[in-house]
Amino acid sequence: MKNRITYSPLIILIYFLPLLGGQKVALEEQLQKQGLVNIHSLAPDILVELKYSTTDNFLSADTYGELENCYLQPKAAAMLKQAQELLKKSHPELTLLVYDGARPRSIQRKMWALVVNTPEQDYVANPDRGSVHNFGSAVDLTIATNEGVPLDMGTPFDYFGKLAQPRHEALFLEQKKLTQEHLNNRHLLREVMTQAGFQSINIEWWHFNAVPVKVARSQYIIIE
Ligand SMILES: [Zn+2]
Repeated sequence: MKNRITYSPLIILIYFLPLLGGQKVALEEQLQKQGLVNIHSLAPDILVELKYSTTDNFLSADTYGELENCYLQPKAAAMLKQAQELLKKSHPELTLLVYDGARPRSIQRKMWALVVNTPEQDYVANPDRGSVHNFGSAVDLTIATNEGVPLDMGTPFDYFGKLAQPRHEALFLEQKKLTQEHLNNRHLLREVMTQAGFQSINIEWWHFNAVPVKVARSQYIIIE
């Protein structure tokens, strides 16, 4: 009996070790099996810092766990590589810095559970319907120096206020709540992304769709 008590924590650890180590592989394998590609396999110089894999986000929660790589549909990944090339051509000292890409619905459900019936609920898509991120066809990103310092876009990523909405930029410039530099930085991001074929949206400066939401729903299945 004494021996069993002494060894049981070790036995438990050995029993669970494969599960702990396997979590990262399982999620990444799942994304790969669904045809998604790690953007670093196409464009290794793009910086990636998945914000939802840290606690530095509006949820203050790490819902991505061990997932640190950015995955996208092959078409979206190729477009992102092109955007990086366009940026490098005009600004060799700058790089794209990606905050989010494909988001499995299992993670969308975790996020939804954190915000449901709170004021933040409007900012998270209902997992039952899914968002373009859940189809692997949307990317959240900014521009940074090659050393990884993000350019000042006037608000942080995931700032849910009007100041982050491109549709109000001209007004906020007039009111001096945004500077010309903020607008120039946002314009540069939009320019390289739209030239590569992405569509910007008018409520978040950091979000771009590789295909319209209707096309994503008809061409792709939700990543689980
Ligand atoms: Zn987004």
